Amino acid sequence: ELADIGVLGLAVMGANLARNAARKGFGVALYNRHPERTDELVREHGGEGRFLPSKTLEDFVASLARPRAILVMVQAGKAVDDVIAELSPLLEADDIVIDGGNSLFTDTARRCKACADKGIRFLGMGVSGGEVGALEGPSMMPGGDRSAYDRLAPILDRMAASVDGTPCCVYVGPGGAGHYVKMVHNGIEYADMQLIAEAYDLMKSLYGLDAPALAGIFSEWKQGDLDSYLIEITATVLRKTDAGGQPLVDVILDEAEQKGTGRWTAQSALDLGVPLTAITEAVYARALSAQRARRAEVERKIGRSPPPARKAGAAAIAAVRDALYASKVVAYAQGFEQMAAASAEFGWDLKLADMATIWRGGCIIRARLLDRIRAAYDRDPKLGTLLLDDDFLSAVTMASDAWRAVVGLAVANGVPAPAFSSALAYFDGLGRARGPANLLQGLRDYFGAHTYRRLDKPGRFHTLWSEGGAEVQVDR
Ligand code: NDP
Repeated sequence: ELADIGVLGLAVMGANLARNAARKGFGVALYNRHPERTDELVREHGGEGRFLPSKTLEDFVASLARPRAILVMVQAGKAVDDVIAELSPLLEADDIVIDGGNSLFTDTARRCKACADKGIRFLGMGVSGGEVGALEGPSMMPGGDRSAYDRLAPILDRMAASVDGTPCCVYVGPGGAGHYVKMVHNGIEYADMQLIAEAYDLMKSLYGLDAPALAGIFSEWKQGDLDSYLIEITATVLRKTDAGGQPLVDVILDEAEQKGTGRWTAQSALDLGVPLTAITEAVYARALSAQRARRAEVERKIGRSPPPARKAGAAAIAAVRDALYASKVVAYAQGFEQMAAASAEFGWDLKLADMATIWRGGCIIRARLLDRIRAAYDRDPKLGTLLLDDDFLSAVTMASDAWRAVVGLAVANGVPAPAFSSALAYFDGLGRARGPANLLQGLRDYFGAHTYRRLDKPGRFHTLWSEGGAEVQVDR
């Protein structure tokens, strides 16, 4: 009997997605460029379901039922183009290629079109949940050819995580929409993690709390509004000791690496003109963390005295929690605003409530907050920003005194909290009908004759700054 789906690329993600599909009762064709990975998968997990391994691409393609569906899980970038080029001549009209890696959305849009020109249906599908998610049920964000999605939905829905009986998988939109949404998911993940790291740093640096004490605090936070996978694993990581018995986190090098999806998210926000401050600060914070030798050198030169010891009262810890929650709402609001902007720019018709729905389970940013975001977009699908939703606005407003106090304390004591403080600055800027850009416009008009508009009358104006200073109307 032929396979229902094929998986090409059997490193951690591909192997676990293949096992996931097999465990759900689907016949799964297997292929990897180097056959050792295929052999290992069959040797160690062959009993989990019906696998059809192949050593050549020709045999792999021949082992699939028509129209063939091939999930490509290779390294993002050139490898995906190489694989499509090798596969294309072996495929027939209506066969489906799904790229489940972290491809750049513009690459996906291009591949979608190139495949369509050859009669092949292409899906660019974001998959989140890491290796455990891939095996036990990830969040999946398929975009591209709608008919291919319809055909595969019964398989994808079974493979995906599910929350309250709803699968964490939905058709996102045409072209590169699925990979775009996955990219923003990862950007939000960057911000979420940076905010957690700042909360950790503030409590450790200001109140001298050690890793086990902090683990307890994060465990407690998991019971409230902050309930999320990342908060849960924060407690787990903080609690872990190494073989010598010391907290593992205390000996992990403070140098964050990155694979690029956070940077892409920030780059796209710049292109779209969306103020994506929280995610972008998180990308910068990783970049600064990577300058470890330089940081050590500057610290040596300026000398640094630790902040005075303070008592970690319940109110102080609750303030950090409130600041974390409010900053997190800002990060999500900005990420969702970016998806709306991209949808308008590229004509995707994204349903933001659906995105919140499929992120409730399986993925790294799964959190109770996403239920609230879904509800907000259900109430008003055209909501311009989550911060205009009554529930979110009142939650953030209620947290704002604590938020200000925490950021103030951080600044006064030289503990950098870039994501906390820029999220607060964004919120304050958003909540201010009149900002200081009037002066920017005046300056732009002075040196570049860029013109300005006035509060008191319509039209565009230019002041003849170096020719007597009279104002002229330049456009009626
Ligand atoms: P890797 O990104 O490490 O890629 C390794 C796989 O790609 C191997 O199967 C390798 O084959 C194959 N490969 C590389 N180049 C080629 C080529 N030119 N032709 C054919 N096959 C090639 O694997 P992961 O499982 O970590 O990730 C797969 C995709 O999923 C990536 O896009 C990744 O970004 C994404 N992803 C990863 C997550 C994770 O937690 N790791 C989470 C979510 C998405 P060979 O064995 O022959 O070298």
